[in-house]
Amino acid sequence: MLLGGLGALYFLVQRSPLGAAVALLLSICAVALAQRGTSSRERSLPARAAALGIVSGLGAAGLLGAELVQPAIVPWLAVGPLCLAGALLSGPLLRCFAFTAIAAMLFCTPDTDWTSRISALLAAAGGLLLAARYRAIQGTGTAPRTAPNRERGWVKASRSTASVMEDDDGRLMRDASRMVRESVDRSLSVLRAALRGRTVVVIWLDSRDRSASVRAAETSEKGLAHGPFGDREGILAVLQQQPAGLLLCDRSGEELELPWYTSTPDRSHIAGCGIYEEGMLVGFLVADRAATLAAFDDIDLHALKAASTNLVSTMHTERLLVDAARSRREATLLYEAADALNSALTTDEVCTIAERLIKRIAPVESFVITRFDEDAARHVVLRATGPDAVGLVDHEFADDGSLAPLALRRRHILPYSGRLENSDTPVFGRDYMMPRAESILIFPLEIGHRPIGTCTVASGTAEAFDVATRDRLRAVITYVSAALSNALAYAQMVHRATTDGMTGLLNHRTFKERGAEAFERARRTDRPMSLIMCDIDHFKRINDTYGHAVGDDVIRSAAVTIRACLRRIDLGARYGGEEFAILLEETDQAQAVATAERLRQAVAALEFTADQTQFRATISLGVASLQPGTDTLLAFIEAADAALYDAKRAGRNRVATQARVKAAA
Ligand code: GH3
Ligand code: MG
Ligand code: MG
Repeated sequence: MLLGGLGALYFLVQRSPLGAAVALLLSICAVALAQRGTSSRERSLPARAAALGIVSGLGAAGLLGAELVQPAIVPWLAVGPLCLAGALLSGPLLRCFAFTAIAAMLFCTPDTDWTSRISALLAAAGGLLLAARYRAIQGTGTAPRTAPNRERGWVKASRSTASVMEDDDGRLMRDASRMVRESVDRSLSVLRAALRGRTVVVIWLDSRDRSASVRAAETSEKGLAHGPFGDREGILAVLQQQPAGLLLCDRSGEELELPWYTSTPDRSHIAGCGIYEEGMLVGFLVADRAATLAAFDDIDLHALKAASTNLVSTMHTERLLVDAARSRREATLLYEAADALNSALTTDEVCTIAERLIKRIAPVESFVITRFDEDAARHVVLRATGPDAVGLVDHEFADDGSLAPLALRRRHILPYSGRLENSDTPVFGRDYMMPRAESILIFPLEIGHRPIGTCTVASGTAEAFDVATRDRLRAVITYVSAALSNALAYAQMVHRATTDGMTGLLNHRTFKERGAEAFERARRTDRPMSLIMCDIDHFKRINDTYGHAVGDDVIRSAAVTIRACLRRIDLGARYGGEEFAILLEETDQAQAVATAERLRQAVAALEFTADQTQFRATISLGVASLQPGTDTLLAFIEAADAALYDAKRAGRNRVATQARVKAAA
């Protein structure tokens, strides 16, 4: 700016094309300098207005140089914008320069008449007034101030505010905090003006280590250090002795350090008092004033104390706002949790939603949900994700000897400390440890007083789950328990409706339904599929000889044996009284015959005891495989039935296919 202005002056004095060129060059340099090293925000209105002012001033000078306008009107064309630029930038040097430029205009152009000089003066004064008005309006706005010589620092928000949760929570808390910050800023601004202080600063004492740091400040100095400072440093040590109120007159920085100044100011008068909250000293309010002014008096101290009381209530409001924001956020989160979990029907859905919700609340890296089977006294892992839960899905473990069962039995979150004391502590069964987990919480899942499982969250970071997080997790986990219990009840209901109560195999209806789906799938994809129908041989005889109850045992044992021989994807059903159907996907005839043969041998190997007599039972099996002519599941079943009939006719205890009968070994 200065260079641009000098350029303008040089030209206006020289009034030559050379002067115009030099002025233009200098003005470009000025604009470049004004823009350099500033952020886009700082390049905003004042800097741009200043640049514009200089360019227009020089433009006017250029007009004069080209002798396009009367020399008489040039001064006010040039000086007005230049003056506006100087005033907007607000630096004393620039203002001074603007006025010098006016003076130069008025007195250095010999052919300017007095009317033009007065017009120029009025234009400059108008520009100044406008600039002052603009600054006043800008000052009351909420836009952050970035001028380097004014600093307002809400330096350290309370920890709860700093460790905000993401999304809405963070935004709500930030809004609450901002409102209070602005209120404190305004109070401090008024206080500094009233006290004619250099700086008014709120120092906050950390409740744990009593370290002090700047919480808010209003200053005319270049920059402030924010701390933390020891509470025995300089003025803070003196204030500790006299928290009720302190007036110190004309102290130098060496005598009494004000630790928040990055460069120690000259001698100052100092006034300070403690800030109390419910009788507890929580911080200090300190003002200092240049020693060239009068020292602080009792009235000033009184104002400081009154302001400190005000600050406490404002900060109390902030806490209320933050609490309210958090409560609102938590209520919303819980509502969402309840809503999402309510809509989950299966245990898998519950696990997925629970994991998503819990990971929103806490920095969870590993997540495990287990289900507890009270009758079998066994735990099984339903969901396991993360680096500490590798290979854990479907893992089954006993109800003793590890941490997860213990948490469920004690109905308490374990470990109490939130971390494993020993890295070899068994967590999910005696042989599953989590050595990498620096933070871990195992929540019992129960409904009423019925234990239903556990939910574990873990992280590789120490102290990952603070008390507030733990509380939030606990609240969500209540919903997880209810949802998991419902899903398990639903699964049980489905199981009852689809399986045969005596054998645990699929019932006839479900076999037909699922079989039809599988049949369609196989036909559509042209994949192999086989069906085995089997029937216990001479079962009437068993019933008649040993009684119906023994007959039931034989059916049950045969079913258990059949199930043990099947893969997970195979559909095994009790098709009728002592008749079973087995649908084998992705299985051709040869594989199906092999399976059937295995089944036959396994059942034939069973030994039964009744009336102190030992006896065996055998089964006959018919195998059908999907062929181009097989159009419906019913036709498929009929084909396998026909093969079974063949096996019976051929002497029983054997496997028959549609085409041929395989004799018993
Ligand atoms: P085959 O070798 O030809 O199959 O001779 P079988 O005696 O087994 O003849 P069939 O299959 O016709 O006999 C079925 C008998 O099984 C008739 C019925 O009384 C008996 N039964 C059906 N359901 C049950 C049941 O749930 N429990 C018992 N104990 N018996 C049943
Ligand atoms: Mg039979
Ligand atoms: Mg039968």
